[in-house]
Amino acid sequence: MSAPLLQVKNLVKQFPIRGGLLQRVVDRVHAVDDVSFDLAAGETLGVVGESGCGKSTTGRCILRLIEPTSGEVRFDGKDVSGAGKEELRALARDMQIIFQDPYASLNPRMTVAAIIGEALTIHKLAPTRAAYDARIVELLETVGLSADHMRRYPHEFSGGQRQRIGIARALAVKPKLVVCDEAVSALDVSIQAQVINLLEDLQEQFGLTYVFIAHDLSVVEHISDRVAVMYLGRIVEIAPARDLYRTPRHPYTEALLSAVPIPDPGLVRQRIRLQGDVPSPIHPPSGCHFHTRCPIAQKGLCDVQRPELKAVSDAGHQVSCHLRS
Ligand code: SF4
Repeated sequence: MSAPLLQVKNLVKQFPIRGGLLQRVVDRVHAVDDVSFDLAAGETLGVVGESGCGKSTTGRCILRLIEPTSGEVRFDGKDVSGAGKEELRALARDMQIIFQDPYASLNPRMTVAAIIGEALTIHKLAPTRAAYDARIVELLETVGLSADHMRRYPHEFSGGQRQRIGIARALAVKPKLVVCDEAVSALDVSIQAQVINLLEDLQEQFGLTYVFIAHDLSVVEHISDRVAVMYLGRIVEIAPARDLYRTPRHPYTEALLSAVPIPDPGLVRQRIRLQGDVPSPIHPPSGCHFHTRCPIAQKGLCDVQRPELKAVSDAGHQVSCHLRS
């Protein structure tokens, strides 16, 4: 088996909270708490969880848009976590991100050509003006837009079209890995499907590898080869998508899945309603972070011991639960 394209090992990100006159660190937000996974070239890993579970922070730490507190990220055999400024610049060509909000992530004062072409200029990928223009037209057509759109501004486009511009911008440098950070969450359901189909086509065409972050399991179902479910900074379950949807093993995944509508009217899934809100990531619960909301938690075990992520099948299904190993 070939080496994974992306390896994330024991990734931790804590955000300091400062207070008092001297602005000393008085507490920490435990945003990402010991996250590890591998990703093969051409694979899509869906990362799902409620807001504040650390999924976007994980994505940004992988690209070093946020500095991790500790842990290791390796991309294509290179150490991303220890890379200097120049190495990071080179790595930025291979690793791109598509942001959630197509309204906020495009500079309203720049034309579409300038937005997409920025990276071509930074990385010196278009030696002449003609090559620059030709590449932008090619990228626009690749994402389903046209040359006519080059000189227009972001406000002249719909949400779906703006996300296509964001995708063209990410593709400009011919990346190998794209982190899609809630890339379709702000779009209407029908537009979501179009953008997901486009991302799947582009993956096939360019051999892309995706980390696809979303808060909804139904969104990642069709695009993901594997899915990781996060809760309060930790991966609680990771499995091939088919296994996770058919036989979820973690009580949190079961609850999330129970809220996903089933297209077959003959099948009924009982809704599992979790009690309470997600606890604060400033002081996450002891033991299993999920014990305060888990319907099957055992006192004296779940509130004391942290469950490790353990294999429950030979197909790569792993679960972090004392009672479901
Ligand atoms: Fe629930 Fe305990 Fe399993 Fe955590 S370890 S998910 S609290 S049963």
